[in-house]
Amino acid sequence: MIISLRKLTYEELKNQLSKEDKIVVWACNNCVKFCDKFGGRETMNNLAEKLKTDGYNVVRRELIGMSCVLDLVHLRAIEEATKKTFEEATVIIPLTCEDGYENLKYIFKDKKIIDVPKTIGLGILSTEWHTLRLSIPFEETGLKPPAEGMTLESAAKQLGIYAGPF
Ligand code: SF4
Repeated sequence: MIISLRKLTYEELKNQLSKEDKIVVWACNNCVKFCDKFGGRETMNNLAEKLKTDGYNVVRRELIGMSCVLDLVHLRAIEEATKKTFEEATVIIPLTCEDGYENLKYIFKDKKIIDVPKTIGLGILSTEWHTLRLSIPFEETGLKPPAEGMTLESAAKQLGIYAGPF
């Protein structure tokens, strides 16, 4: 399974938003859901509520099965149910891996897509550990996980970024 971490803190995220923005919180409901709950429905709802409480205008929460499938992302831009909201939105916050983020940039060229995810390699979800651990990091990360894998918290700490939800 693909492993992604979070490049920003919640404060850093807010620094990239304005109170005039029309914000879509966009969450993949697959690999990132198992990355210490970086994505998925619950995380999406929690972030949307947190932003609303802080006075931001969240106009939509969009849960997608696989944000790496370009056609699925494109459907949101053209389908009647979602077209208007996405036309009016100014910002999308992706709770996805980097592929999901790149697809958003490709489809919604006129929106600000916040650069949130950092994809660092592949991992294994074991019933023994109950969490996803990094086992095959991308070479450029320089990470060297032990045989039993590396927790995402440990990987994030070594990379100076964050694991899990905002
Ligand atoms: S967009 Fe990324 S996180 Fe979502 S299903 Fe595809 S590979 Fe997994």
